[in-house]
Amino acid sequence: MDNVAHIPSYLSAEHLGPWETYLVQIDRVEPHLAPALRPLAPLLTRPKRALIVDVPIRLDNGEIAHFEGYRVQHNLSRGPGKGGIRYHPDVTLSEVMALSAWMTVKNAVVNVPFGGAKGGVRVDPKTLSTAELERLTRRYASEINILIGQDKDIPAPDINTNEQVMAWIMDTFSMNEGKTAMGVVTGKPVGLGGSLGRKDATGRGVFVTTAEAARHIGLEIAGARVAVQGFGNVGEAAARLFADAGAKVVALQDATGTIHNPAGLDVRATKAWSLAHRALAGAPGSEPMADADFWGVDADILIAAAMENQITAANAGRIRARLITEGANGPTTPEADLILQDKGVTVVPDVLANAGGVTVSYFEWVQDISAFFWTEEEINARLDRIMREAFAAVWDAARARGIPPRTAAFVLGCERVLLAHRLRGLYP
Ligand code: NAD
Repeated sequence: MDNVAHIPSYLSAEHLGPWETYLVQIDRVEPHLAPALRPLAPLLTRPKRALIVDVPIRLDNGEIAHFEGYRVQHNLSRGPGKGGIRYHPDVTLSEVMALSAWMTVKNAVVNVPFGGAKGGVRVDPKTLSTAELERLTRRYASEINILIGQDKDIPAPDINTNEQVMAWIMDTFSMNEGKTAMGVVTGKPVGLGGSLGRKDATGRGVFVTTAEAARHIGLEIAGARVAVQGFGNVGEAAARLFADAGAKVVALQDATGTIHNPAGLDVRATKAWSLAHRALAGAPGSEPMADADFWGVDADILIAAAMENQITAANAGRIRARLITEGANGPTTPEADLILQDKGVTVVPDVLANAGGVTVSYFEWVQDISAFFWTEEEINARLDRIMREAFAAVWDAARARGIPPRTAAFVLGCERVLLAHRLRGLYP
């Protein structure tokens, strides 16, 4: 890997983690960049800024616990930073760096005026009470206060964070600033400057881009068999939209297990069941399935909407779907990518497929700044248009250059970032 030379001293070269996946992707993209921009590519292999914070909180039992928190701004050439905040025990600096870099590329692919950023706290939120979670969120927000702001860096939800967490961050930031600052985060509750349509936006973007890809490879969505990994914000919305369009959701997997029905699962009933029982197993009209067997399910379309590094060299060979859409960030390892390419599987890459969330976050930010709110129909119509246009740009570039859609999406995104950088010039 050429970019190994650029590994910063604050990461372990032996255990590079998700940042390595990102560097390999940049290695694969570099030769395809416009010759005039190629010399600027090293900019993409270094985050602009990384803040590591200690987040001490008082637990309900009176003890004090400490958690590691991060906020990384990968690149701000095209606008303020934008990217979610993740609460997960496996959060690392490497992961937050990679996620921030994918945000840089993603924001450029859908051409919203943001740079890339991401944040996270290394915590299992399930072990905290609601009051502890609020204290953790408020302390973390105060610690990253120096980086965030409506025109500096705008967080949003990611794994294990939601609109309540965003409301706490918005309130904490507002208290510190002495004024209500709605535009500091997106993914807020609708009653607090949030946008209609934001909740389903990522799943909707996954659905729209998958439908476009399916059309191009001659696959009908009505009647198609779809397997979905991840049944949270992204996976549930995507599964519901596929079912509504006449597809059969034949398998669902989340952190609690895997269920299956070749005739199609009832997505809404499964959602109600999993909310009530905190598990997929036992959902009406479903059969349990071994987690490992999920990858070999007989399906036309596979939606990866859980975590990174799920489709690996170990399971890629078993996947039977013709079309894979990455609702999650970084679900496919670079080795698995090559296996899927050899098998002729079409992969709609994360930086395109899951950009629906940040696109409606952009709408939310615009609505907050202008204090003028749009209807859900306007939002969905604008979202669908942006996703279709971005898909067409990526698909056409992939076809024209004979490269996979992921490389084409990265070329499109990276060239936009590097062009903005060149136009601005190197400071000072
Ligand atoms: P979420 O917390 O709402 O849901 C995550 C889902 O994945 C849950 O159903 C969980 O049970 C499941 N899961 C976790 N670990 C798993 C495992 N090892 N095997 C199988 N399932 C597992 O999170 P989300 O917001 O839906 O995000 C999912 C992915 O989509 C993440 O990669 C996130 O970065 C990405 N993403 C989210 C958004 C958004 O708007 N929420 C936008 C862009 C990208």
